[in-house]
Amino acid sequence: MNNIFAKRRDRLLAMKAARDSYIPREQRVTCPACGGQFVRREVSQALWVCPGCGHHWPVGAYYRLSTLLDSGSFRELNGKLPPADPLQFPGYPAKLAEARRKTGLDEAAVTALGTIGGHRCVIGVLDGRFLMGSMSAAVGEKLTQAIETACRRRLPLILVSASGGARMQEGILSLMQMAKTAGALARLDRRGLLYISVLTHPTTGGVTASFASLGDIILAEPGALIGFAGPRVIQQTIGETLPEGFQRAEYQQEHGFVDAVVPRGQLRDTLALLLRLHEKGGRHD
Ligand SMILES: [Zn+2]
Repeated sequence: MNNIFAKRRDRLLAMKAARDSYIPREQRVTCPACGGQFVRREVSQALWVCPGCGHHWPVGAYYRLSTLLDSGSFRELNGKLPPADPLQFPGYPAKLAEARRKTGLDEAAVTALGTIGGHRCVIGVLDGRFLMGSMSAAVGEKLTQAIETACRRRLPLILVSASGGARMQEGILSLMQMAKTAGALARLDRRGLLYISVLTHPTTGGVTASFASLGDIILAEPGALIGFAGPRVIQQTIGETLPEGFQRAEYQQEHGFVDAVVPRGQLRDTLALLLRLHEKGGRHD
């Protein structure tokens, strides 16, 4: 019986993953980094990493989950938690409707229970296609509920970020999510539970300034832009030329902000290893 449900969940996740299409539908795709042309299937088999130069294409939330979770283990949390328009911001409902139509998502975050290499965890993924993965009140609530689920069930937490920051159309209510998610993570920490933050291209603004930077372990995908303000803003503000590779994942690792840069093809195994190493660890209160 369980097997039937697992298969259904698998099919559902596979369908949703297939819908995550940042990528043009033609048979050939051109890498924006090296300009190389590749057969679509070849790139897709490489998890949307360029076979020529290693460029990592941004991917949707369900696709990401399908590359990380064990087959049949995906169980979505709070599938329906739609955004509100508390400030009645001009044009916001139309933007939301467009993002929904484009991505098939209700919001920029998907959270789930699942296993990676047989290890149970709570996982949340931001989807950069939905209004740049920005953090609305609904996204903050979804992530907070995921963190609280991890606390309740004493499970490790993984959050995969890709975000332009706080969602300006929700003003202060969006900024408050920074404190809310950080507060929930502090409670997770007090329970001695593991939190792994995975930073993907781009992770910026209020997301970097809150939960994305609070991981016990912080991993990043190669070439991901990670920072608060973007390089152009910083350059204009300080009036100086920034060093080569500034704010990229490798630069952040060199400067101690990121623990390891992990190519997409190795992310699942790396997470499984970290979960295994920490399974018996942690304080107990
Ligand atoms: Zn390339």
